[in-house]
Amino acid sequence: MIRFMMAAAVGSLALAAGCQPQTQTQTQTQTQTQAQQHWALVVHGGAGVIERGAMTPEREAEYRAAMAAALARGEAVLQADGSALDAIEAVIHGMEDDPLFNSGRGAVFTAAGRNELDASIMDGATLEAGAVAGVTQVRHPISLARAVMDNSRHVMLQGEGAETFAREQGLEIVPPAFFFTERRWASMERALGALGLAIPDRPEGAPAPAEIDHGELDRDAREHRFGTVGVVALDRAGNIAAGTSTGGTTAKRWGRVGDSPIIGAGTYANNASCGVSATGTGEYFIRLTVASRICALVEFQGLDLQAASDQVIRDELSAMQGDGGIVALTPDGDIAWSFNTPGMYRARQSEGGEPVVAIYGDED
Ligand code: ASP
Repeated sequence: MIRFMMAAAVGSLALAAGCQPQTQTQTQTQTQTQAQQHWALVVHGGAGVIERGAMTPEREAEYRAAMAAALARGEAVLQADGSALDAIEAVIHGMEDDPLFNSGRGAVFTAAGRNELDASIMDGATLEAGAVAGVTQVRHPISLARAVMDNSRHVMLQGEGAETFAREQGLEIVPPAFFFTERRWASMERALGALGLAIPDRPEGAPAPAEIDHGELDRDAREHRFGTVGVVALDRAGNIAAGTSTGGTTAKRWGRVGDSPIIGAGTYANNASCGVSATGTGEYFIRLTVASRICALVEFQGLDLQAASDQVIRDELSAMQGDGGIVALTPDGDIAWSFNTPGMYRARQSEGGEPVVAIYGDED
């Protein structure tokens, strides 16, 4: 519990000292101050077989810097009394633009050589939610998910219709090749080769083939890094929100959609319990309704957040042979993360506290 207690303490001292009774305005201010909440923020950048020694020091430094920058974007919003929803958009925008992560630019390719992007967002105060699947030209899918929530009668839009809506909403539209990175293209080629499937043509407008670091590619394949991004935020008004954005899984086929845009699976937020964002092999997260299940354990079984998260990820997901992790946060500011992979890019910060960034399983 990290509510401000100062105003209440000062009020009782004044009464004990026989001071004048407080005016209505003073009482109102006191109530507002008492109700004010410290903000908190927890972010992931994907889970996988991320092990010490398997990553170059330069790459590790890049990931740590990117996770710290993500926290800083969220902090700037929340410290200025911005909403949890705005903080999520701000954090994810930067990650969607960063080729390190599998969301927006840097997303993985489908077997047909396309970047099909999924995202979702949920407001724990109202239980409103928005989601998009399979968009190929929207620079910031998380903002499209937000627009679906705020400005449509629907919760989830997909494909062409979602893109028409994005245009109508005035969101930034980019050519599909905007999302192209050589590293992800090469990973897709490698995955298709292993499956015995044909390599598609490079997307129109993609840069000419470039030399890539084959060591990095080997590590990507070995580490099975996911790279989806997700955030849970708590604002000073005491509201929780969660959001997730991804390119899905490498060489996915037939319009496959994972858990990230599915409310209750990859993303969930409810002020009555908690907010969760997930990353991992989405098929398992969908079947286990991971995000809402963790919140249900908190709400109905009274488990603390870490215990609920570990039960679902370490016990139940592992029992199904699923892999991945989550970050989570309660309206009281309790933060948890849990994963059954060797590592997960993750970061957290609470108002007045230091930012924490971690990658490997043996950290913090
Ligand atoms: N959960 C995502 C999906 O299955 C992938 C990821 O987390 O990287 O689409």
